[in-house]
Amino acid sequence: MAPLTDTFGRVHKSLRVSVTDRCNLRCRYCMPAVGLPFASRDELLSFEDLRFAVDVAVSLGVDNIRITGGEPLLRRELPKLVTMIADGTQAADIAMTTNALLLHRHAEALAEAGLDRVNISLDSLRPERFTKITRHGILADVWRGIEAACDAGFSPIRINALLLDGFNDDEVADWLAMTEEREIDVRFMELMPIGEGAKMGRLGEFLNLTDLKDRMVEEYGLVPADPEVGNGPARYWKRPDAKGRIGFITPMSNSYCDSCSRMRLTSKGQLRACLAYDDEVDISEAIRERDREAVAQGFRRALREKPAGHQWRDGQVTQTGMSALGG
Ligand code: SAM
Ligand code: SF4
Repeated sequence: MAPLTDTFGRVHKSLRVSVTDRCNLRCRYCMPAVGLPFASRDELLSFEDLRFAVDVAVSLGVDNIRITGGEPLLRRELPKLVTMIADGTQAADIAMTTNALLLHRHAEALAEAGLDRVNISLDSLRPERFTKITRHGILADVWRGIEAACDAGFSPIRINALLLDGFNDDEVADWLAMTEEREIDVRFMELMPIGEGAKMGRLGEFLNLTDLKDRMVEEYGLVPADPEVGNGPARYWKRPDAKGRIGFITPMSNSYCDSCSRMRLTSKGQLRACLAYDDEVDISEAIRERDREAVAQGFRRALREKPAGHQWRDGQVTQTGMSALGG
């Protein structure tokens, strides 16, 4: 079948699959403390539905799959889904983004099931700050998950830290020190005006990471890592002798929309071609009916309607929160 190309010629090779919109944390920039409606059990796609959707995407040229949420590890028997995708599709790379709270229980089974990589979201190395930004998370639980992921052989571990001016931007030297000692990639991320993220300012303000990178080059002698570009939007730098790298993900200050190759499938079976827009194409029925052609049409339709890029810098706000979109 013809590759998934949008009207701007961007070929789409990456699908983020959300397996739940629920979470065991309430990060302040992602979810409100209370009052967010969740998908009902009937609305959620089953593992077999998800495997089928991935299989169709792969037949259309998608080669990397990222399992996300909400918190994906809240979905019972997640390693089973990984096995189903690894054994039942031709996906070349299967990754997962998690807050790692439950990772110590599942890391080994996930590795055995065929998960290739894990990204762990962790915004602060200071216990009280971590609890504050997540509303109730315990930092030691995340560390237990990170160690379990290392023991299970995931390498390199990638940590995603969302930096906020006036909240956790004073921790960059600590993160840098960690990359010197361990083969861990730490990726700094910019806040996006999505859901609760559009209402920030209570905890810390948006931090321009293109400027931060320039300051870190000056102050800490960062050099471009080899390779500088991975298979996502992060640009990697490092201290000359460090084992790990520092990545900068800059959707606001240096947008990468021109080279976007991602689509998202929500846990209810809605396709989102662009993270910034609330438009979606419902392919849930086609998936449940195992109608390959209709699912393929859904992917193509979503891409026909995909805009050139976000307009967040001009005041655009995305209503649907990240926990429902899959990050
Ligand atoms: N629960 C998992 C986790 O936290 O890794 C997976 C889902 S979470 C929605 C995926 C990523 O989205 C996290 O790294 C989180 O920091 C990021 N995120 C959530 N809201 C955001 C926002 N408004 N701006 C930027 N990143 C956001
Ligand atoms: Fe949960 Fe991840 Fe959102 Fe935090 S960022 S509330 S861990 S879905």
